[in-house]
Amino acid sequence: MRDANCIFCKIAAGEIPSKTIYEDVDFRVILDLGPATKGHALILPKEHYEDFFALPEEAAKGAVSVAKKIAPKMMANLHADGMNLVQNNGETAGQTVKHFHLHLIPRYKDDGQHILWNPGEVSQEELELIKDQIIG
Ligand code: AMP
Ligand code: ZN
Repeated sequence: MRDANCIFCKIAAGEIPSKTIYEDVDFRVILDLGPATKGHALILPKEHYEDFFALPEEAAKGAVSVAKKIAPKMMANLHADGMNLVQNNGETAGQTVKHFHLHLIPRYKDDGQHILWNPGEVSQEELELIKDQIIG
């Protein structure tokens, strides 16, 4: 299903132009208009799913499969030194477009980006409690 008000639905369908680096029946991969680094790309399913949790397992597998095809080519052709695969869910986690997308962010030595987090501190007791909370 598509969402008539969703910009990524329109981009994925080709109704709004984009710099497309890969397309198949189910996905389009575009260059991000606000790139973190050179070559920052977004894998968009053509169907509208709000986020990771709404994504059917088959579509999740498809997104990973597209990443496995495209990411090595980006690494090689852009001469990247590394790559972050980033996927945000919910405003608190930085999601600004409510149509599932997987970021492919090539990384270059000294590119000045800060995509990783500041490590916190946790005790073994706290880890044990968190583990139990997650397992339920
Ligand atoms: P997120 O914050 O994870 O929801 O990521 C949304 C991403 O979409 C950001 O990196 C934006 O720069 C990018 N973006 C928003 N609108 C467009 C657009 N029309 N074309 C390409 N990228 C876009
Ligand atoms: Zn959409």
